[in-house]
Amino acid sequence: MDFSLTDEERAIRDTARQFITKEVMPLEQEALLRERRHQPGLELSELRELQQKAKKFGFWGLSTPEEYGGMDLPALLQSLIWTEVGRTFVQFKFGGEADNILYYANEDQKREFLLPTIEGERISCFAITEPGAGSDAANIKLRAVRDGDDWVLNGEKTFITNGNDADFTIVVAVTDPSKKASKGGATAFLVDKSMGWRSEFIQTMGEGGPASLIFEDVRVPHRNILGEIGQGFELGMKWIGKGRYLIPSNALGIAERALGMAIDYANTRETFGAKIGTNQALQWMIADSEVEIEAARWLILRAAWTVDQGWDPRHASSMAKLYGAGMVNRVVDRVMQIHGGMGYTRELPIERWYRQVRLMRIYEGTDEMQRLIISRDLLRGYTKIGGHLA
Ligand SMILES: Cc1cc2nc3c(=O)[nH]c(=O)nc-3n(C[C@H](O)[C@H](O)[C@H](O)COP(=O)(O)OP(=O)(O)OC[C@H]3O[C@@H](n4cnc5c(N)ncnc54)[C@H](O)[C@@H]3O)c2cc1C
Repeated sequence: MDFSLTDEERAIRDTARQFITKEVMPLEQEALLRERRHQPGLELSELRELQQKAKKFGFWGLSTPEEYGGMDLPALLQSLIWTEVGRTFVQFKFGGEADNILYYANEDQKREFLLPTIEGERISCFAITEPGAGSDAANIKLRAVRDGDDWVLNGEKTFITNGNDADFTIVVAVTDPSKKASKGGATAFLVDKSMGWRSEFIQTMGEGGPASLIFEDVRVPHRNILGEIGQGFELGMKWIGKGRYLIPSNALGIAERALGMAIDYANTRETFGAKIGTNQALQWMIADSEVEIEAARWLILRAAWTVDQGWDPRHASSMAKLYGAGMVNRVVDRVMQIHGGMGYTRELPIERWYRQVRLMRIYEGTDEMQRLIISRDLLRGYTKIGGHLA
């Protein structure tokens, strides 16, 4: 058994780290100031500029197939890079990416939606959640009714990331109410904003925010169906599946950076004539954080590795998402405690992380949904205790 990275993996990971350290982290103080003024920490034009710079370093389309100009990296390397991105709280991501399910598009749709998304000329959002259907996504109600060559969409989606900025959405709608959405009753549509849906910003405890998308008699041509009629739920689950190992990968970077700050602080801050790091109470917080970070790392890398083996990654990804999201919340909480009052101020990014990471236990499958998946797999004998080594 070999737990080390290959020279190539290490080189790519280190180059990503260098880019984040040299090009993105210097923008952090300005991002914090802007966010305090309720402005985006990074403007879209600035993000695009950084992405173009990263392209010169060779980072473009981490998951994008080479025929579309991307790097087509194995999941393991994508995970390592998302960890590097997580080290900065500037809302940066490498460019040249598109939603994984846009590759189900036909050639015309690829020209209209996929290619401009990869190039950063168009912004997409993915919409399955509704006010009455989140964890129970199969209970969606947004309805699409066929009318000649069009479909007419009515209903509401909610909590849609990028919903306010997107110029098109991949929306999952009920096309056959006689079937469950998860059993062929739902279909995915590519819907331009110009076709008439509107968005309403939702205030959250995080920076930026998702949006509700409102559809009132929105006419969508039949040719805008993504994939097959009845395939909408399956595509939705594929979209969500990808985040299940990338979200915790990102969380790992946050936890590592935050713990590093706590260690520096514990080694410099003095109370009662001694460094606070000499107190066992704080040493235990540091030790527990380190152990949990390592435990999360191996769950995450195993999930990514499972993807690369071509095996069903759902069980491993659910464990990585559940544990990684919980881990980062516990670590950031301890890091705040170690910083005392300073940790609670907006001078430091800790309170920002504290707000940001809370979401990781909720979106793209709550903790409870991950537990449901993990236990159900075991109860029905689909997976064995001990995983692939069993
Ligand atoms: C900032 C943000 C961004 C998001 N981005 C997107 C996006 O881009 N696209 C999109 O489609 N959606 C998005 N979501 C929606 C997100 O995926 C849902 O909020 C999430 O799946 C939970 O659904 P819900 O909010 O309806 O909670 P509910 O499903 O109502 O759950 C409420 C609580 O009950 C628990 N619960 C529910 N059922 C069970 C059960 N059977 N057993 C045990 N516990 C249960 C849940 O775990 C949770 O604790 C986003 C959400 C947020 C907050």
